[in-house]
Amino acid sequence: MINMNHIVGSHDILMITLDTLRYDVAQLEEENCPNLCGGNQWEQRHTPGSFTYAAHHAFFGGFLPTPATTRKSEHVRLFHSKHTGLKTHPNTWLFDTPDMVSGLREEGYRTICIGGVIFFTKKVPLASVLPSYFQESYWRMTFGVTNPRSTEHQVNHALKLLDKSAADERLFLFMNVSAIHGPNHYYVPGAKKDSVETQRAALRYVDGELGRLFSAMRQRERPVLCLVFSDHGTAYGEDGYEGHRLAHEVVWNVPYREFIL
Ligand SMILES: [Zn+2]
Repeated sequence: MINMNHIVGSHDILMITLDTLRYDVAQLEEENCPNLCGGNQWEQRHTPGSFTYAAHHAFFGGFLPTPATTRKSEHVRLFHSKHTGLKTHPNTWLFDTPDMVSGLREEGYRTICIGGVIFFTKKVPLASVLPSYFQESYWRMTFGVTNPRSTEHQVNHALKLLDKSAADERLFLFMNVSAIHGPNHYYVPGAKKDSVETQRAALRYVDGELGRLFSAMRQRERPVLCLVFSDHGTAYGEDGYEGHRLAHEVVWNVPYREFIL
């Protein structure tokens, strides 16, 4: 079990949200995702939000997806607000700020956001809210859902920042990967609409790109805690539903992994 009180201060932290990735899709592609899975399995979790905006506010508030079991009280949270009066586990790191991002900043972390989907574009005030949790935030047209090479561009940008960062600087790097969100049909030649198949292809593409980011993080002085999960899934016609921001098991079940790089 991870003890966050041993991680904060001694490790860099890399948090990646694989926007819209369904749990079943992640599971089907485990063997084809050497960077994300490396022979391991995704954990099935429940997301606290059914779409990007809601879910990320929860995450930055310290509410990550919880194990998909009825034994919720046994779950040890990584992050929790201090002085709530609630009993917390000794392995939980407590922050005394409005959110865990500024909490890490108080601990000397440089906090960086590399945005992907529309809520990170900073094009309208609403789309500036999530990036504003961070000291630095970046979004380019090439990072967004319309670019079939978005992850390549996002990773390239991260590598440029890492190149200029001292190896011993404490980093909290957050990346919202947009490629798995719709439209993702262009990852299967000839496909006309998004489906489980095209999302599977998008995930394989993303895994291939993330290898470079993981290697660069491994070059840094500190070990890196990597948290990778989806913010919500999406429906491709199940029970008549399309998309997300709705309550259905294909939306609330999400894949989750935590590992040290
Ligand atoms: Zn999302």
